Parts: sequence; structure tokens; C-alpha cells
Amino acid sequence: MKDEQDEPELDEEVEDDQPLCGKCGYSLTGLPRRGNCPECGHPFDQMTGRGLKRAMTPEERGDRVLRLARIIGLVVFAMLAMVCGGLLSMIAVTPRKPLILAGVVASLCLVGAVADYVMGRMNRD
Ligand SMILES: [Zn+2]
Repeated sequence: MKDEQDEPELDEEVEDDQPLCGKCGYSLTGLPRRGNCPECGHPFDQMTGRGLKRAMTPEERGDRVLRLARIIGLVVFAMLAMVCGGLLSMIAVTPRKPLILAGVVASLCLVGAVADYVMGRMNRD
């Protein structure tokens, strides 16, 4: 039976995950988690990531998912704020206040979402 989740880019991912010496870029795959680079002697610690060239860790990958969730959350929240502001403006004595407040909140959320997105893009390269 063929598994549908046969990921063709798996090889690529594995290569991304390779721990590399932070100094000379030598692949530290298969070496103890802690020690010195056999190529240049640079000390490394795979547990903490110290002395390593940064490859993407599972945590960072999780960060990406979290970031996406945060961006979506911010956009949804911005829309909710606008809806609430609109509703409140119908019952408020001064209809402008909730609208302005909602606009400010929504703008901040959207700016945050865009900033988050841009930061994520920059970190990736
Ligand atoms: Zn090295």
C-alpha cells in the first residue's frame, strides 16, 4: 500500500538538519553530541547548538507554525475588533469612540501580523 504522505523533499530536510561546524562548516553528523570539530577543532555542543552553524531545529520549525498561527490569530482578532467596534458604535453615546478604538486595535494587530511575517521571512534566509 502506498502512503500518500510520501514526502519527496525529505532528503532535503535531512540535509537542512545536519549539524555543521560553526567555524568551518564541516558536517558533524554521526559524531557525539558534544566535542570538537574533527576538521578544525572548534568546540561544539549539539544539545545547546553552541558552536554549530545554525540548521533548522524542530523547535524552529515549530516556531514557524506558531508564527503562522499568531499571524492568523492577529488578523482574525483585527477583524473581530472592527466588528465589535461597529456593533458598539451603534449603541454608544459617542459612536465615533468605539470605531476609532477598534480601528487603532485592528491596525496594531495588522501591523504586528505584517511585522511577524516579515521577520519570519528575514530569519529564514
Ligand atoms: Zn570545524
